[in-house]
Amino acid sequence: MKIISINAGSSSLKFNLFELPEKKSIASGLFEKIGMEGSFYTIKYNGDKIRKEHELKDHSVAVECLMNELIELGIVSSLDEIEGVGHRILHGGAEFSAPVVLDEDVVKRISKYNELGPLHNPANLLGVEAFMKELPGVLNVGVFDTAFHQSMDMDHFLYPVPYEWYEKYGVRKYGFHGTSHRFVYGEISSYLKRDDLKVITCHIGNGASITAIDAGKVVDTSMGFTPLAGVMMGTRSGDIDPSIIEYMVKKTGKTVGEITNDLNKKSGYLGVTGISSDSRDIEDAMAEGNERALLAQKMYIQKITNYIAMYNNMLNGADVIVLTAGIGENSSLTREQIIEGIASLGVKLDKSKNDFRGEFRCISTEDSTIPVYVVPTNEELMIAEDTYNIKLNK
Ligand code: ADP
Repeated sequence: MKIISINAGSSSLKFNLFELPEKKSIASGLFEKIGMEGSFYTIKYNGDKIRKEHELKDHSVAVECLMNELIELGIVSSLDEIEGVGHRILHGGAEFSAPVVLDEDVVKRISKYNELGPLHNPANLLGVEAFMKELPGVLNVGVFDTAFHQSMDMDHFLYPVPYEWYEKYGVRKYGFHGTSHRFVYGEISSYLKRDDLKVITCHIGNGASITAIDAGKVVDTSMGFTPLAGVMMGTRSGDIDPSIIEYMVKKTGKTVGEITNDLNKKSGYLGVTGISSDSRDIEDAMAEGNERALLAQKMYIQKITNYIAMYNNMLNGADVIVLTAGIGENSSLTREQIIEGIASLGVKLDKSKNDFRGEFRCISTEDSTIPVYVVPTNEELMIAEDTYNIKLNK
């Protein structure tokens, strides 16, 4: 069965067409600069890649264009072959704790959470609307970044603030990257053939979050009400003293929104180094002895290892630690430093196993108290599989 997985941004649309249950990606690509000058798209299939400039007025035009290409390139012989469309949706509030079949009413309910995810949710829904228009009658499923974390207990998701903030305004921890944490948790559970594992999953990419999972249930996660919370990231600060915001508003004359934007877009690796948000650039600068890059990396490792140690305590001893996403899968250096940073837990790296990129592998020694695995994430496949499972049960 062919299922397409979609991640729509405000001016982009990323797709991956899968054959399921074989988990095989048949074609993938990206439509960029939608609604802007110079829009174009790239499609990869069968070892080939095409790139075309094309006016993409809106997301519907992009979807129409994608469908034409799928036929013209011989990737599908008829659009009827596409039996489901899975959409990545950032925020489902406290209402959506699992993937959901999308219709107009459900889309309306999801749009209530747009103010909790103003950069992503409205854009994600543009993708849904475009598919509803261009492929009428085909199953659309929404898969939320927040959903997996809905299994958290209240003592973990509530902030110690006036209770009515939660009751009246929904101020609580939601957590993000849930699809990725759920995917790698599923991978390690099936690899180790256990469904009762206590796992600390570390999604360390440009955005980063750490999650403590006990037998499939999220105990706690580092991102919060928004993705700004938790560990230091490429451009986000992670946890800081909230009083800094008012102080900086007074000092700089900027608005709260502008300071919050600085915390989201100009902080983290980028803010501390002034060089880049990309860990490869930081590693290059470190190799040249750049002081601020060395400082930023020290801070980065501290924040991550503090969360791992805290979650190990919360889980009363984790069975496995999983590293994933761009940095977790590819940076031998950051992996090594993270494991050095939790040496007090008895975790030990086998250096001879750590020099690789993007593979499923155990990188700890036999006598490490907690085994550490690198597990490549695949949110697109997870979204397609969720859609496939709903289609089978319909
Ligand atoms: P996003 O959160 O945007 O999905 P990714 O998971 O793709 O992010 O991660 C992007 C990060 O992964 C960047 O900081 C990038 O430098 C890092 N990364 C990718 N490949 C490597 C590598 N070979 N070595 C070090 N870091 C890498």
